[in-house]
Amino acid sequence: MAYAFNVRPSHQSITRFSSSSVPPAEWRCLECGKLLGVRHGARIQIRFQRHCYLVSLPVEAICRGCGTVNQT
Ligand SMILES: [Zn+2]
Repeated sequence: MAYAFNVRPSHQSITRFSSSSVPPAEWRCLECGKLLGVRHGARIQIRFQRHCYLVSLPVEAICRGCGTVNQT
């Protein structure tokens, strides 16, 4: 879950993103709050198992935790 933020000092990448244009924002499930992806401006980065996708809005995703359809 949150181990990625605790283990590695990711200040550099965060600074780089925030200084470019829009700071990344978490996209979470409306029902259970499970992290679905990270929004970078008009695109959303989705990490699913070992794959990583960068998709354009609008995005629709089904929560792995509770099955709720989330749209953004
Ligand atoms: Zn959910």
